[in-house]
Amino acid sequence: MTEPTASEQLRVLAGVASVCTDCRLSESRTTVVFGDGSLTADLMFVGEGPGYHEDQQGLPFVGAAGQLLNRLLNEIGLSREDCYIANVVKCRPPGNRDPRPDEIDACKHYLADQIRLIDPAVVVTLGNFSTQLLLKDDQGISKLRGRAYNWWNRVVVPTYHPAAALRGGEGVLEAIRQDLGLARSFLDRRAGLEAEPEQLGLFG
Ligand code: URA
Repeated sequence: MTEPTASEQLRVLAGVASVCTDCRLSESRTTVVFGDGSLTADLMFVGEGPGYHEDQQGLPFVGAAGQLLNRLLNEIGLSREDCYIANVVKCRPPGNRDPRPDEIDACKHYLADQIRLIDPAVVVTLGNFSTQLLLKDDQGISKLRGRAYNWWNRVVVPTYHPAAALRGGEGVLEAIRQDLGLARSFLDRRAGLEAEPEQLGLFG
């Protein structure tokens, strides 16, 4: 028997997630928001967790933060369809509260499988939760962003969550632009990385 393809495995995984009851978030969700986008994307985004609109529609980043992310992607010559987008937790935390550590622990195996199966060259983590989870580092996003990290044979570029730009104004927006530019530069040179990611960091 032949091994199922990555897209078949992702479809099975999405089916498993769609009826998941491994944590309390399953009690209040409307829809599981598994992920969306190209299953062969070189660039993957990881957000925090679904909000109201995502919970209603079953798709990640379709609210105001998602609109901003689309605009920022367009600025670096990409569109949402070129990427894959997922979250740390697949179900909306009630009232958009922060996901709790036990909820993240219960859900993180889905994200690990998504990254393994999609196999992106570059992962952009949006905000504290995804950045801290992937990098296993409890420093805040403002300390961790602005550079790229070698991570399991790929590159992680942390940046602020677009919702922070909607609240925090131009400085945050400009920082996200810089970080996405860094992500783009890795995509452009992924055929042959000549330099270590750390050397290519914006702020040394
Ligand atoms: N914020 C997130 O972190 N993820 C979404 O899907 C939407 C908003």
